[in-house]
Amino acid sequence: MRIVVVGAGVLGASTAYHLAREGADVAVVDQAHEGRATAAGAGILCPWASHVDDPAFYELYAAGARYYSDLVPALSELGETDLGFRRAGALIVSTDPTELKSAESLLRDRRMEAPEIGDVDRLFPREVKALFPPLRADLAGIHVAGGARVDGRRLAASLLRAAEHHGATVARGFVELISRGNRVPSVRLDDREIVADAVVITAGAWSPALLRPLGINLPIQPQRGQIIHLHLPGQETNSWPVVLPPGSHYLLAFDDSRVVAGATRESGAGFDYRVTAAGQAEVLSEALRIAPGLGAATLVETRVGFRPVSLDGWPLLGQVRNVEGLVIGNGLGAAGLTIGPLAGRLLADVVLDRQPALDLAPFDPLRRHEPERMPQPPLR
Ligand code: FAD
Repeated sequence: MRIVVVGAGVLGASTAYHLAREGADVAVVDQAHEGRATAAGAGILCPWASHVDDPAFYELYAAGARYYSDLVPALSELGETDLGFRRAGALIVSTDPTELKSAESLLRDRRMEAPEIGDVDRLFPREVKALFPPLRADLAGIHVAGGARVDGRRLAASLLRAAEHHGATVARGFVELISRGNRVPSVRLDDREIVADAVVITAGAWSPALLRPLGINLPIQPQRGQIIHLHLPGQETNSWPVVLPPGSHYLLAFDDSRVVAGATRESGAGFDYRVTAAGQAEVLSEALRIAPGLGAATLVETRVGFRPVSLDGWPLLGQVRNVEGLVIGNGLGAAGLTIGPLAGRLLADVVLDRQPALDLAPFDPLRRHEPERMPQPPLR
């Protein structure tokens, strides 16, 4: 079975890997647009602390985090260990004891279904500061042992190499689709046609333009995120946890003395791939407000990414009814590095006509978008 995957962010790369692993003949094409979400994503894996309360969405979100326990060893068997993945824990911080109490009770409830949350401990401000030294001295916290982080760029690159290991081909280029009615659409790359039995569209925020010639109006918008990378010379940041203060901003650390401060959520900015004065000011002031110790850090870079966000805030995952062999994966919004690897596996099952491990009916890509499902409470 010949399958073309269009778009190789985390979702397309994972879909390609899972398809190739099952023996399918996979061709991946990716244009590597400036602002692809996977290359800018922070990489926090801690769905249990989110306010997502719809059972179907939460199940997918939590299962996405759990799936890393299978994926990381599977990639490691192929020599793919450079993912920036570490279970460094997550720290919910606040000066408000009521807020911390309610976060703690939510986590303890969720842990009954999700033991991978691990220990949930209340910490005094000095214990909080010992775990993440640049923080203010007055923040108490809840430590979640199972919280983790991953580097989206490195993860997607590893998944692609793993797909190639299983025989997939990966090409750079811009794809166009041509309608063939209810038959598998024709895929054009430059002047060539790639013949396929199935086509998977995982083209992130750019998917609506790609699908328009098929008469499909995909309700996806780009949401710009600006995210700042800081370097703390001489600091051993490897084991610093993800920090989740009230609101949608956050901090996390990677192994190379790097701290990442995120992020703006700018709907309506279109595909404007720029670092703006207001975006920079917002992210830095939120970061320094809770972690003044970052004031002396070197500002290394600001990344800009376009989160693919659906009209009702829910993912779009599955087969397009009435068009043979056309499968869509999209709408992972602010949660795609958590959900993407698992969602790729579920999409591979759809393509191969197998029953996915989770019911994808609520995520039908061309469902009627119900206003009552909107707005989803902000994901981090
Ligand atoms: P993308 O990564 O955007 O990939 C789409 C790909 O399709 C691109 O490479 C593009 O070039 C290609 N493409 C498009 N059109 C075509 C075409 N016509 N032909 C060929 N190729 C094409 N998630 C978390 O779980 N935790 C986080 O902490 C987190 N933080 C984030 C912070 C920021 C600032 C941002 C922006 C996102 C964050 N996310 C996070 C969300 C996550 O990064 C995204 O949901 C996820 O990366 C989306 O992946 P994707 O594969 O759907 O899309």
